[in-house]
Amino acid sequence: MVKTKTKLFTADDASRIESEYSLLTDNLYRCDKPGDREMIDKAFRFANEAHRDMYRNSGEPYIIHPINVARIVNQEIGLGAKSVAAALLHDVVEDTDIPLEEITKQFGPKIANLIDGLTKISGTYNKETNSLQAENFRKMLMTLSDDFRVILIKIADRLHNMRTLDSMPEHKRMKIAGETIYLYAPLAHRLGLFAIKTELEDLSFKFRHPRIYDEIARKVKLDEKKNLALINRFSLPIIEALNQNNIIFDISGRFKSIYSIWKKMQSKNVPFEEVYDLLAVRIVFEPGPEMSERAQCWQIYSLITDIYTPKPDRLRDWISRPKSNGYEALHLTVMGPEGRWVEVQIRSQRMDDIAERGFAAHWKYKGDTSQSESELDKWLKHIREMLANPMSDPLTFLDEFKMSLFSSEIMVFTPKGLLVNLPKGASALDFAYEIHTDIGNKAIGAKVNYKLSPLSTTLQSGDQVEIITSNIARPEKEWLEYAHTAKARNAVKDALRDESTDRIQKGMDMLEQKLSELGILPNSDIIKKLLDNYELLNKDELYSRIGLGLINLDELRKTLKKAPEGSLRKYWKLAIGGVTRKNTGAKEAPAPAEKIDKNQPYLLRENVDSSTNSYVIASCCQPIPGDEVVGYLDHSNSIIVHKPKCPVAVKLMSSEGNRIIPVRWTIHKLASFLARISINGIDRIGLVSEVTTIISKELNVNIRNINVSVYDGIFEGTIDLFVHHTRDLNNLILQLSNIKGIASVKRVEEFIE
Ligand code: MN
Repeated sequence: MVKTKTKLFTADDASRIESEYSLLTDNLYRCDKPGDREMIDKAFRFANEAHRDMYRNSGEPYIIHPINVARIVNQEIGLGAKSVAAALLHDVVEDTDIPLEEITKQFGPKIANLIDGLTKISGTYNKETNSLQAENFRKMLMTLSDDFRVILIKIADRLHNMRTLDSMPEHKRMKIAGETIYLYAPLAHRLGLFAIKTELEDLSFKFRHPRIYDEIARKVKLDEKKNLALINRFSLPIIEALNQNNIIFDISGRFKSIYSIWKKMQSKNVPFEEVYDLLAVRIVFEPGPEMSERAQCWQIYSLITDIYTPKPDRLRDWISRPKSNGYEALHLTVMGPEGRWVEVQIRSQRMDDIAERGFAAHWKYKGDTSQSESELDKWLKHIREMLANPMSDPLTFLDEFKMSLFSSEIMVFTPKGLLVNLPKGASALDFAYEIHTDIGNKAIGAKVNYKLSPLSTTLQSGDQVEIITSNIARPEKEWLEYAHTAKARNAVKDALRDESTDRIQKGMDMLEQKLSELGILPNSDIIKKLLDNYELLNKDELYSRIGLGLINLDELRKTLKKAPEGSLRKYWKLAIGGVTRKNTGAKEAPAPAEKIDKNQPYLLRENVDSSTNSYVIASCCQPIPGDEVVGYLDHSNSIIVHKPKCPVAVKLMSSEGNRIIPVRWTIHKLASFLARISINGIDRIGLVSEVTTIISKELNVNIRNINVSVYDGIFEGTIDLFVHHTRDLNNLILQLSNIKGIASVKRVEEFIE
């Protein structure tokens, strides 16, 4: 976080600092070893001196931030004194003149190592494909192999920054919120920090979609009272039964987080009311001596199902086999009062601690959770393998790391009965590479549960898999379509790279030889002519095609004689009323005429002359005026306008957050924007013409394309339209939904042209 050293601390500041610090020291958890408190105190005095007279954007003394990170580290994650000290010191090396050696001298190598992992790489990267953000993230993960606590402190740092994000300028908010949802929330989840993951998701969502967040929050509040009453009524008989059986327990109502409600609304395409229907309670019990924890979970299960009828397909048993992030619990769903489903989560005190505090809590219970710890260890081992692969560039690494966060959800078996953990959706090919790279490279098919199956087969938990190999088999490019794990993808890419390097070299030799036969010296003009002629993007592709024999060199002389055709356009432009669009992958685009000030929203002005337009609408999410938007300043300095929820934009926020800029629509009266709606209903004669009549009567809307199909009497279609503003679109959607027989009309938010 940026801070300024503009004024000296006042007496007020000093007392504020002391009182924040005592909030930490008065509630220290597990810091009772001799020397612990002294070390924390020393770290605080040291950091306080180093950050003297520095302020955060919010106007508070800077040291308030490290103090709060230390509180999260200790009280919410449960780490001990060394981590608390490191959290207090975490910004010292990055933001003050104090070198790392000084930390080593004062606090020893262990704490210095933690601080090093938390210090960003300074400077800028020029190489276009590299991302400083990704590089920093990778650096932080590198320290994983030495000390796991770095990442937990980093998550605490991020949590506090998210809690105080209000005071940051908008473009930074977007970058930080985007990175949070892309990486930090899944990471927290992977490490079992459930409470922190939920808070990170909600905060990120709040800053990316303030309007939707507020609306859902308002509705949640409205329903809260009623739901609490329902939960109380539901809980009473359970409380009675548990008491009769002398079980010591705690029961509480659980409410869905705002982000999870929104995600469900999006993925299931249902209104708030349907998502919010599910109530949940949690029972945390103190295990008694006469029964194992597991047996006690099942005892509580049977007491509950004596009272309420369970939904048979909704039993989730994570006590026999914990989730890969260590989560243990028994979940069931029963029919509650007023015909509403209620989810009940049953956990012991220990399980609850692990679920809320995650990895750190495992240490506390070392010995009785060897199973779940080894799951985490496996994941760590996997990350180390990824880090050890020197071939992957930071951006690829970032992607693959993200994939790994969701991994290890299915369990399959080798023919000998050995257990192999794979990410959900893994293919037989992933399995082959998981066993051994050589087996993957030589694979030609698989036997899944004794049945011959292709390598692309998606595996299910419990499958038994045998890989069939052949010595003449070789990895193919198509394999990348169903190689999901980092291990499989890297191995396939490595193999393909070797092969394609050979082919490129061969093609290059062939071309040179042919040119010399013709008495021509190879130069860039000739290469350019060939690229244009064969519509290729780069030299490697040209050589590789020659090497493969796809380009016939006998025609070379004729080809070279042809007149130049002008450079190839790999992007497309569509200028209607003056707005340029292009594919997000394209390189070429007009540069903005004015200078961009990141602290001011860039105004998306209407410009009738399309050649002077300074921004482009991303074709992946097609925002239109009235939509929430965010800008990405690409490498040729033009602004690409995305919706903040567009997956492409979220990824850019995480990898190139410095290029994210705030943008605002201005009034567009002439320019039209492409939008798509989907429509369905019961077909009847004249329906289509009624739809088109309504659209054509709307002055502000023009049809570009209409696509309708009727199947078994059901009418379904998509309509592409040009509109000026979301208002026009909403207005039209309203009118269309009033047509008799139409069941739903919706805007399609993401579509690829
Ligand atoms: Mn920090």
